[in-house]
Amino acid sequence: MGTPQTSHVLSLEGVSKTYDGAQKPALDNVSFAVRAGEFFSILGPSGSGKTTILRTVAGFEHPDEGKIVMGGKTVNGVPPFKRDVRTVFQSYALFPHLTVRENVEYPLRMRGEAKAIRSGKALEALELVEMSTFCERLPHQLSGGQRQRAALARSIVSRPTLLLLDEPLAALDLRLRQQMQHTLVALQRELGIAFMYVTHDQGEALSMSDRVVVLDEGKIAQLSTPREIYFAPSNEFVSRFVGRSNLVPVKFETAEGGAIGKIEGTGVPGLLAPRAGPARMAIRYEAVQISTLDGSQHPGTLRGVVEDVLFMGTNCEVNVRCGALNLIGTVPAVRESTFLVGQPVQVSFDVQNTQVFYD
Ligand code: ADP
Ligand code: MG
Repeated sequence: MGTPQTSHVLSLEGVSKTYDGAQKPALDNVSFAVRAGEFFSILGPSGSGKTTILRTVAGFEHPDEGKIVMGGKTVNGVPPFKRDVRTVFQSYALFPHLTVRENVEYPLRMRGEAKAIRSGKALEALELVEMSTFCERLPHQLSGGQRQRAALARSIVSRPTLLLLDEPLAALDLRLRQQMQHTLVALQRELGIAFMYVTHDQGEALSMSDRVVVLDEGKIAQLSTPREIYFAPSNEFVSRFVGRSNLVPVKFETAEGGAIGKIEGTGVPGLLAPRAGPARMAIRYEAVQISTLDGSQHPGTLRGVVEDVLFMGTNCEVNVRCGALNLIGTVPAVRESTFLVGQPVQVSFDVQNTQVFYD
């Protein structure tokens, strides 16, 4: 039996774009492919080019260089309405004078589908997003979350091969955002269509996606699974942007069979490298272990003083001054704070959970 070929619903091949009058390209040689039925996210800070990718795929912008391929065909010259994609925006973009049902039926009406078929499909789409009881309302009679669900129903009613979502949850409050993440994942599984989801929120990207591409100023910084991106960021940009990390200078000094890493002059047990030299190490907050300094300091730990403590609910972030360095670590939150400002502490690292970047 031959291995089935992974089918791609979309691929970008060396796509570059500079807006008129801009100094820097918005997209710089971007290449990636989205698999059929995949939840694919584009994660990056504001201005990194996320919306430009979406608008280029939808056909509202044109690349200066490179190809957009959908269903095996280059679609660079194909107008938006002839592409097999739909887009959900943060701003919902519902027609204010049409009811929810009429809004959802609209794309089908444009395609000339019969009334009975239209209303059947619309109801089914509204049921999928749990909005079937709001059919006859006008958009202004809905909450923000309900409007977003109606917009979602409208975008899936024609069952496109690919659904583009541009920060669709950004206007919702935290609880609704979390609820909608579950809805979106369930919906995507149910429909089996590929989602390309744009967000600046690493939590959203990590929690929902099969794969994530991280963008840095129009360039791909990393393309991988959420776990890989979180646990094995391939560069400093990704480690700073995804998760919460300390980035500290480390000096590797020659030792037996390699080099041992020193932070602030203290050798860190288990921190080994093939060669000597300076580097930087990303240490996640949860990989920084802080303990009280009662009596003697353990070998291989850094001595420090607590500068501030932030109570976050499930845990506390403790900021410790160690010589010239500040290190932040998380500790479980308990009713009475274990760490107080000014308290001397010792700090060690879970070396397994760190990344070293060389110059
Ligand atoms: P993101 O969605 O990640 O915030 P965008 O794709 O909107 O980023 O923007 C990428 C870059 O392109 C930014 O520097 C932005 O200022 C610029 N840009 C976006 N749209 C336009 C436009 N219509 N004209 C000129 N520059 C633009
Ligand atoms: Mg944007």
